[in-house]
Amino acid sequence: MAMSTDLEQAFNDQITLEFASEYVYLQMAAYFEANDLPGFAQWMRLQADEERTHALKFFDFVLERGNTVELGEIPAPPTEFASPLEVFEASLAHEQKVTAAIHDLYRMCSEAGEYHALPLLHWFIDEQVEEEASVSQIVEQIRMAGDNGAAMLFLDRELGARSPGSGE
Ligand code: MG
Repeated sequence: MAMSTDLEQAFNDQITLEFASEYVYLQMAAYFEANDLPGFAQWMRLQADEERTHALKFFDFVLERGNTVELGEIPAPPTEFASPLEVFEASLAHEQKVTAAIHDLYRMCSEAGEYHALPLLHWFIDEQVEEEASVSQIVEQIRMAGDNGAAMLFLDRELGARSPGSGE
């Protein structure tokens, strides 16, 4: 039996939020490219790719459950940032919003007896802990670098070394 229309809507909203995340991070990648920080840009591109895989996990789940996928509108992401620090702070705030949305979905599914959804949502709950931890760490490292250009270039090298699927 398919999920209720309320849950179907909630999962569709989550798919749209994950695609919106892809969009947010691509815009951030463009900011870093334009500001001569190719390693930061590469990190954001991989982050964007990861968001697409998140969206598709929910997409496949909705279809497997016999429900209907309806993609929502994706808002234009912010395009102006004052500094790399501001970008990563915005990224952290975005991930906190995604975490809250996943917790809401988990609560809705538990209350509705939609136990099929729980393993998938557990995976996402763990994933969000990692996402927030890695973004927080980068926020702190940018703060430590401060006005030190050499430290920022070192960090750019570090972030540029991220490989697909490494999670960092
Ligand atoms: Mg995500």
